[in-house]
Amino acid sequence: MKLAKRADMIKPSPTLAITMKANALRAEGRDVIGFGAGEPDFDTPDNIKKAAIRAIEEGFTKYTPVGGTDEIKDAIIQKFIRDHGLAYKRSQIVVSCGAKHTLYNLSQVLFEEGDEVIIPAPYWVSYPDIVVLAGATPIICDTRESDNFCCNPKSLEKKITPRTKALILNSPSNPTGAAYKKENLQALAEVIIKHNILVISDDIYEKIVYDNYDFYSIASIDDKIKNLTIVVNGVSKAYAMTGWRIGYAAGPEEIISAVTKIQSQSTSNPTSIAQKAAVEALNGDQSVVKQMVSEFEKRRNFIVDALNDIQGITCPPPQGAFYVFPNVSSLYGRSHSGNTINNSTDLSTYLLDRANIAVVPGKEFGNDQHIRLSYATSMKNIEEGLRRIKYAILELN
Ligand SMILES: *Cc1c(COP(=O)(O)O)cnc(C)c1O
Repeated sequence: MKLAKRADMIKPSPTLAITMKANALRAEGRDVIGFGAGEPDFDTPDNIKKAAIRAIEEGFTKYTPVGGTDEIKDAIIQKFIRDHGLAYKRSQIVVSCGAKHTLYNLSQVLFEEGDEVIIPAPYWVSYPDIVVLAGATPIICDTRESDNFCCNPKSLEKKITPRTKALILNSPSNPTGAAYKKENLQALAEVIIKHNILVISDDIYEKIVYDNYDFYSIASIDDKIKNLTIVVNGVSKAYAMTGWRIGYAAGPEEIISAVTKIQSQSTSNPTSIAQKAAVEALNGDQSVVKQMVSEFEKRRNFIVDALNDIQGITCPPPQGAFYVFPNVSSLYGRSHSGNTINNSTDLSTYLLDRANIAVVPGKEFGNDQHIRLSYATSMKNIEEGLRRIKYAILELN
């Protein structure tokens, strides 16, 4: 059958593919430890589940307004005021079926053929494909490990052309865990304002930060940059709610109303029950987030130390999210049973074959010198997994 070209322009999410491969090997009886997970391993907190159960029992099971109920929009508005002192109106908020859906819809309303969208690398795997699906061209802007993987304003400016429509920022970052400082964002904002481009700020990991890192949103610098920024966020990562599918955007009214229109002819509203659960997540007791973050922090400390303990691997501690992105490039050129490891894919394949360890090659995120490990898995798995990785690396010639 001849499918539309669109379907061939993109690839399935490689991180989901690795998780699936690990599951398949496990089903064959192999004791695979997966470091591929892109979601918290914790259960959704009870108060949030109860809100959803209540919604079902009370019959809150019909269509809602396309862009979300007033109740959830108000909860989001309060969150922006509380966390960042940012004021939005209901007409500047749209709720979608997960932040990925929000990003997809934004891309559909903002980008078209001929447009360029700047994506700093290492990037979240979905950004380039979401841009391509809108017919636009992703322009990759490499960042340096020595800059903590933050987009350098000069490098950004070099990538800007008359076709540039937007920059996609993600802090803390998936896959590096690196987070921007306020000064970094101010320097970027100057370039963005000077060239009058948009910025999509994916803040999905804002709550998962360590060492008292103070999250700062680029939109809160001043009104000029706020008017050029669309903030994307959701409840998936902070509240362990990946399956509920609630994400949202805040930004200029014109853009938000176009997103709502696209949604009205595609998914309609996000699930009514999940909206009620998300309201409880946003308005309810926030100590559940702290508990999860403190568990993540313990694991991060362990995994960073254990990786740095392996000869040939270096791993600075990330400021946020639940990933480490160690540099493994000094292992390139080494071999096992006659096979040379030349890149991040070779190393990931070796770890899976030799040690039953699933990691994601950095190449998938636009940087072949690194691999990504998620520590959204138990301490027991992390300890055993890192022991296996160490031995597998020791066996290299
Ligand atoms: C997980 C993730 C998202 C999407 O989350 P949803 O579950 O779709 O809300 C968006 N951006 C990044 C960087 C992510 O890691």
